[in-house]
Amino acid sequence: MSYNKNNVFAQIIRGEIACVKIYEDEKTLAFNDINPAAKQHILVIPKGEYCSFDDFILKAQSQEIADFFKVVRKIALEQNMVESGYRLISNHGFNAVQTVEHFHVHLLAGEKLGGLLPEDKHAR
Ligand code: AMP
Repeated sequence: MSYNKNNVFAQIIRGEIACVKIYEDEKTLAFNDINPAAKQHILVIPKGEYCSFDDFILKAQSQEIADFFKVVRKIALEQNMVESGYRLISNHGFNAVQTVEHFHVHLLAGEKLGGLLPEDKHAR
């Protein structure tokens, strides 16, 4: 899969599309999901051009991978999610129904979350 520079998160990084920013540093951006699946639903993305988790692990340097996930944890801490609990999700590819082809981690919290998959996972 080659990286498409016109994906919506690339446009958010370039400031072409607005977002509700939660955190930003040189390499990472976090913002509220436009269609929240929980009371707190933050998307954390690297600014580098990675299509998905799989692509990130394949291409990024080990330090960059470690730094990214430490920032995810820092955001969870700053957003008061650590004590009450949070869930990380990252969809890769067709079967996972990845809709934006720029690597992102969903950070979900703020309420008791349901089971791992939606009840209707077998609905087609
Ligand atoms: P995924 O299905 O894992 O690729 O998740 C993509 C997520 O991006 C979905 O939860 C969408 O609601 C979210 N999303 C799409 N467009 C935007 C946007 N402009 N701002 C914030 N979140 C968005």
